Amino acid sequence: MAVTSHTIKTLLDLTSNMSLSIINHYKDIFNAPHQHIQLEKNRQALILAKRTSPFLLPGSDLCQKFGSDLFYYAQLALNCPFNCSYCFLQGLYKTGHCVLFINYKDFITELRALIKKHPSSMLYIPLSHETDLIAFKEGRNFLTLLIPELSMFPEIQFEIRTKSAVADFFKTVPVAHNITYAFSVAPDEIISAYEYKTPNLKARLSAVQACISAGHSVRLCFDPVFIEPGTQELYKKFFIHVFNTIPPHKIKDTSYGFFRMPKKLFRYCAGIHNELYLYHAPYETDGDDITYQAVLRKKIRTEHATLLENYFPSDKIFFLD
Ligand code: SF4
Repeated sequence: MAVTSHTIKTLLDLTSNMSLSIINHYKDIFNAPHQHIQLEKNRQALILAKRTSPFLLPGSDLCQKFGSDLFYYAQLALNCPFNCSYCFLQGLYKTGHCVLFINYKDFITELRALIKKHPSSMLYIPLSHETDLIAFKEGRNFLTLLIPELSMFPEIQFEIRTKSAVADFFKTVPVAHNITYAFSVAPDEIISAYEYKTPNLKARLSAVQACISAGHSVRLCFDPVFIEPGTQELYKKFFIHVFNTIPPHKIKDTSYGFFRMPKKLFRYCAGIHNELYLYHAPYETDGDDITYQAVLRKKIRTEHATLLENYFPSDKIFFLD
């Protein structure tokens, strides 16, 4: 790749103490044919690369945009150190390896161009959409470089979503009014069943507390919610436990959405995890997507909304149906 002195400095900042192999192009490894995702997840390589295509892509209707006018997501990294069995990335990339794009100054240039193109719009941009940047050391180092630059974009609401529990990280980055840290939380039974390699609920809630104490803005994400035998009782206890641990008034807002996936990716992921109930539940097709039957979604959503509204006004709960 063509490199600038700034790119080299960033590379050195991110990789101190790493053993490195030089490759020609990240796609030589990342997009190699016939890869075995689970074997690679067990010996995951992190590929550092320079991105030449746009960093910013229009967001999908399967995701929330939190009241903003426009939703773009940033591809700063591809793939994730965690290994959730419901993750659409398995079907999208078909590899266990990760890529981190280090030329973040080019990303900043793209942000400026996007604002110029949409001068009077409020934009929502998740930075950790196809990865979990806080979950790995190089991702955190990268954020430490990037975050101070983001406060110059007041018209953009950035979100950094995570399932990690690296509490100390939040003391190392400056507080910015336009950055929200979004923690995905789930009952421990769901974490053990489907969110392989992720921290348990207790550890995640401790990270939420650390993030709040450091003065950052925090979102709680109940997404994806599963409808399976026994989960109704599970979620009731879970919501009560979460809000007995985290004071609701310290939370900016919450998001809620059921498990859903594009049909094509679902078929691929089902081939990897055929033994899981998750891939055999009685779903229905909604356009190009697979999700729970509408009548079931309505029933569970109403029950959960009643519970959540004990803690939050309804305008702070973003439901995705
Ligand atoms: S944490 Fe998110 S991005 Fe990472 S494997 Fe799980 S669902 Fe996928």
